[in-house]
Amino acid sequence: MKISEIFKKRDKGISFEFFPPKTEEGKKQLLTVAKELSTFDPMYASVTYGAGGTTQERTRDVLYMLKEETGLTLMSHLTCIGATAESMDSLLNDYKEHGIDNILALRGDPPPDVPDFDPTKGEFSYAVDLVKFIKKYDYFSISVAVYPEVHQEATSAEADLEYAKQKIDAGADFGISQMFFDSRYFLDFLDRAYKKGINIPILPGIMPITDLNKIRKFASFCKATIPKEVEDRMSGILDKPDEMQRVGIDLAVQQCEDLLDNGVKYLHFYTMNKSEVVSEIIGALKNKLN
Ligand code: FAD
Repeated sequence: MKISEIFKKRDKGISFEFFPPKTEEGKKQLLTVAKELSTFDPMYASVTYGAGGTTQERTRDVLYMLKEETGLTLMSHLTCIGATAESMDSLLNDYKEHGIDNILALRGDPPPDVPDFDPTKGEFSYAVDLVKFIKKYDYFSISVAVYPEVHQEATSAEADLEYAKQKIDAGADFGISQMFFDSRYFLDFLDRAYKKGINIPILPGIMPITDLNKIRKFASFCKATIPKEVEDRMSGILDKPDEMQRVGIDLAVQQCEDLLDNGVKYLHFYTMNKSEVVSEIIGALKNKLN
């Protein structure tokens, strides 16, 4: 099913993001997690795609497994950096044949573990090129990534928003945001986007902080601010994973409540292929999500 159609029918909803595991055991565990999370009636679940196509096979395998074994509506992340039109056509045709109707169109980053990766060999420069390419199928529902705290390479917030608008205007049905931990950034972004004429659904990407050290690394790469409240509540419990998880769940619930109270309708959860944390958060939000 196309996610663009789901938005027409639902004025509230959640979605889940998974990554393709490296082992058969990981795949089995992911299937269990996906089945557990599907009881929350998500709008869709998405599967990430390794930078430069490094997980292409695994992403596809996981999508087809979930398609066969669950009733979930599915979306593939797809990066275009270094890719050829021929390879994209081949993958998109395969997705179409297997009923994967939704694509998150991304530029991606050069894969850090492939030192001789040459992005100039590809035929796409930016996500907007991939959106245009997918659009010509007149088949897929397309989403794009947006950055409440501005993409790390952008020359300015204005330029970043202008490029976001270009990829949306090229045919995106909805946007999903980079993780952020202070709702203010997301709500300000929505406001700026709306003033610029962007009126598709933009889903906030919710990353529960269950391990602050790990999140610090990723947050510094993608320039997501970790608020003082998070540091204050977690700095004394960095060596106590259970306590950190408990606080992380509380903070994520607080963040989601804040967003929903401010008119946000949909939430996209980065699950890290685990169900426990996200299930607790959604359980706590039950009254606001129904
Ligand atoms: P673009 O929209 O192309 O933007 C990249 C940069 O170029 C920005 O700074 C933008 O301002 C600038 N720009 C855009 N257009 C132009 C132009 N015409 N001229 C000049 N500058 C321009 N990565 C993965 O590898 N796999 C995944 O599965 C994955 N999933 C993601 C899911 C979400 C929700 C998000 C937010 C990110 C995800 N990423 C993933 C990371 C993403 O690939 C990186 O953030 C990447 O650096 C940018 O991708 P993009 O599609 O936003 O790029």
